[in-house]
Amino acid sequence: MNFAAIVHDIAEALRPQAGQQGHVATYIPALARVPADRFGIALHTVDGIEAGAGDCDMAFSIQSVSKVFSLTMSLQAIGDALWQRVGREPSGNPFNSLVQLESEHGKPRNPFINAGAIVVADVLLGLGRTSADLVAMLSDLCGEAVDIDEEVAASEAETGFRNRALANFMKSFGGIENDIAAVLDLYFRQCSIRMNCRQLARAAGYLCSDGAHPLSSRGGARPALVNERLTRRVNALMLTCGTYDMAGEFAYRIGLPCKSGVGGGIIAVVPDRLTLAVWSPALDESGNSWLGMKALEMFVARTGLSVF
Ligand code: GLU
Repeated sequence: MNFAAIVHDIAEALRPQAGQQGHVATYIPALARVPADRFGIALHTVDGIEAGAGDCDMAFSIQSVSKVFSLTMSLQAIGDALWQRVGREPSGNPFNSLVQLESEHGKPRNPFINAGAIVVADVLLGLGRTSADLVAMLSDLCGEAVDIDEEVAASEAETGFRNRALANFMKSFGGIENDIAAVLDLYFRQCSIRMNCRQLARAAGYLCSDGAHPLSSRGGARPALVNERLTRRVNALMLTCGTYDMAGEFAYRIGLPCKSGVGGGIIAVVPDRLTLAVWSPALDESGNSWLGMKALEMFVARTGLSVF
């Protein structure tokens, strides 16, 4: 398949529509300043072939896409013990909802809603991990130095009242072990990591290669990041819980494990074949990138690639 031509055609077709529908997230003030008319797409195959088009080299705030990598790091460290503290079911509620937490005694439904990702941050902090470790992990996976957008991190900390409420609420049930301010600092900083589509597609490469380090296809021995079993589990969670309360719609229309963020980025996995990253900052009502979702739909229609 000529992936370079495919992503080029998708960018040609969609870029003119960037910013025409949906809205850039404004509840984090620093994100509101991102121009809505951007669109980027990139992919990385298991053999190390890469292709990108549009604004694929422009860095953006990865936001909740970071939850895939923090989940991976926590599973690497403590394995199935994580599931005593966070569930694995879709929530069917907005990503920052407090409602379900009360009836479920402070245990978040899954690691991709904010409450679940805050618990994962608590686990990592308890193991002595910091946001710098996540930055190092992502830099290692994509083979380029990535960093944190300090303006976004400060903006999140300033306005993260709901996340603070979630953390305090869970603490009241005994669900958070460490100091709340330190846990939230890690969480806000991981969300503020900035990367471009090429880097993200490459970094997520372990998810389509049974856990192999994405750069191992370039030669040179590199230890696998995680094992095959763990990769399958992360993919399953992405498929069922990765796109806010639109996971059913994503499974129906795209049929790939995906994880989105309010910065407008989405990563998608075609197991044993490739990983994709798309970015366009304007979001639909569910918080997913409006044009990013369209791009993924177009990609699967054109290539016939799907897990189904
Ligand atoms: N930092 C964002 C928040 O906690 C992440 C939201 C997202 O991308 O889903 O609100």
